[in-house]
Amino acid sequence: RAKDLGRDGYAFYTEGMDADVRRRLALQSQLRGAVARGEFSVHYQPQVCLRTGRMTGAEALLRWHNVVLGQVPPGQFIPVAEEYGLINSIGVWVLDTVCQQIRAWQDQGLGDVRVAVNLSGSQFGHADTVPLVEETLARHGVPPSCLGIEITEGCVMGDPDKSVGALRRLKAIGVGISLDDFGTGYSSLAYLKRFPIDVLKIDKSFVDDVAHAASDAAIALSVISLAHNLNMRVVAEGVETPEQARFLASHGCDAMQGYLYSRPLTAADFTSLLRHPRSLDLDQE
Ligand code: C2E
Ligand code: MG
Ligand code: MG
Ligand code: MG
Repeated sequence: RAKDLGRDGYAFYTEGMDADVRRRLALQSQLRGAVARGEFSVHYQPQVCLRTGRMTGAEALLRWHNVVLGQVPPGQFIPVAEEYGLINSIGVWVLDTVCQQIRAWQDQGLGDVRVAVNLSGSQFGHADTVPLVEETLARHGVPPSCLGIEITEGCVMGDPDKSVGALRRLKAIGVGISLDDFGTGYSSLAYLKRFPIDVLKIDKSFVDDVAHAASDAAIALSVISLAHNLNMRVVAEGVETPEQARFLASHGCDAMQGYLYSRPLTAADFTSLLRHPRSLDLDQE
């Protein structure tokens, strides 16, 4: 846009910034009370074992529909919720909703479904997160092994000592821990060694061209061997083509998540999938 600038360049930028500020203000004002108004829902995206092709669990992904703003993607409202201190109450709702759902699947005879919930940095830094997780699991009678949490590198590196403590306590009660978007943050291999992580998730940005770009393939293969050498499992994010899945499977990646198998599903659609399981078939084009 540099050529739009010139004499009015400064005004152009100010206007652009105002629009951004206005958008964030609109988001935060609608976010207040959104839990109480029942505007959130959780979608469930299947994770699939690359050896057997079978579904192993799901990631919980938050969805927000607001009367004024319509459907707003989490990439837009989560940062605003963090900035305005609204993420904790939303996070409490997500955890409660997911545990209630896991319990409902158990009650319907659909087995112990494992679901991973995303936690943001400020939630994770919150002293009450571990007791909250324990209390929510207990209240719904959900075994801790059914619950996972997904954290990002940024969110643990902020206060590593505190993070190690919280992760150890979650791990001790049996909650699985995944490191999300691996490779996109400020990775420190020393921290990786200290944290009790069960799963590394290879970020979609490395998966996109994994079967065509030598650099992405090298990164993916390095993450796979790094994880395995540290006794962690690897899940590839954002797998869209059979070619990507075959490449990852043939190089020992444990599981995948992505549109190839399924988009994130409503609770009702995910329930249908549990009732009528289907396998990922990598031999078929
Ligand atoms: P994430 O945890 O890395 O989630 C993966 C994102 O990739 C999701 O976007 C998912 O819908 C998308 N995705 C999965 N497979 C594919 C694929 O094959 N192709 C493409 N193009 N996309 C795929 P979504 O649902 O928009 O969520 C974005 C981010 O918002 C998440 O990234 C996570 O960081 C955050 N988020 C979502 N739900 C929550 C939540 O309940 N709490 C917190 N704190 N953050 C959340
Ligand atoms: Mg995630
Ligand atoms: Mg991710
Ligand atoms: Mg990602």
